[in-house]
Amino acid sequence: MQVTYISEAMPGGVNDDFVVAGERFVVVLDGATQLSESGCVHGVPWLVGRLGVRLAAGMVSEGGASLRAVLAGAIEGVCALHEATCDLAHPNSPSSTVAMLRQRGESVEYLVLCDSPIAVETVDGKVQVVVDDATSHLPGYTQEDLCRSRNQPGGFWVASTKVEAAEQALTGCLEAADVRRVALMTDGVSRLVERYGWTWGRLMDLVEAEGPGAAVRAVREAERATAPGTYRGKVHDDVTIALCRGFGA
Ligand SMILES: [Zn+2]
Repeated sequence: MQVTYISEAMPGGVNDDFVVAGERFVVVLDGATQLSESGCVHGVPWLVGRLGVRLAAGMVSEGGASLRAVLAGAIEGVCALHEATCDLAHPNSPSSTVAMLRQRGESVEYLVLCDSPIAVETVDGKVQVVVDDATSHLPGYTQEDLCRSRNQPGGFWVASTKVEAAEQALTGCLEAADVRRVALMTDGVSRLVERYGWTWGRLMDLVEAEGPGAAVRAVREAERATAPGTYRGKVHDDVTIALCRGFGA
C-alpha cells in the first residue's frame, strides 16, 4: 500500500503526536497533554516515540501476533524502559491514544484505542469510522476528573502503564480487495468532520489531491474562523493524518 502522512505541532507547541509507517503498516499516536506532575521524568514526546517504534517493530516482526498482542507488548516494553526512574503507578503517567493498521496478505487489520479515529472507505464508496468515543461521555473534564477516569472501568482507556488497556481497544479485519482508502488521524484533524461539518470523503479527497499538508491548513483555517470558547478544550491541537491507498495492488 501507499502511505502519505503529516504530523505537525500546534502553533508554538511541541508535537505530542507521532506517526510511523512502512509498506504494510501505519501507527498514529496522540499523546495526552501533560498539565501536571506525572511521576515521569521523560514526558509525552518521549512516550509516543518509544511506543510508536515498538508498535512498528511488533507489526513487522515474524510470527503474526495480533494487533492487541503487539500493543500489549509495546506498553510492557515502554514500562520496562522507565520503571527504574519513574513512578509508573502515578495516575497522571504519560499516555497516548493508538490507531494502527496492518496489511497481511488479503487482510487489512486495524486497532483503535481512545479517540484517534480510523476512516475506512470501501470500493463501493461507503465510509465507516472506527473510533472509541468514551472520552465524549465522561462525568467531567477537569484534570482531576480525567485522572479518575483514565484506564479505569467505566472511564476511558489509553496506552500508558497498564497492559490490560490493549484488551479495551477496538479491532477489526477487512478484505484488502474491498478497501479503497483508509485514513488514520488524531482528533486535531478529525475535528474537520466532528466540529466543522466536513465528510470523511472530502477529507480523504483533499489529502489525496493536494497532500496531507492541505488538511493541516484546512484545520487551522477552520480554527481561526471559530469564536473562542465555542468548543471544550484547546483552540489548536497537534495534527496528524496518514492516508493509505493501493490495498489491492
Ligand atoms: Zn518516565
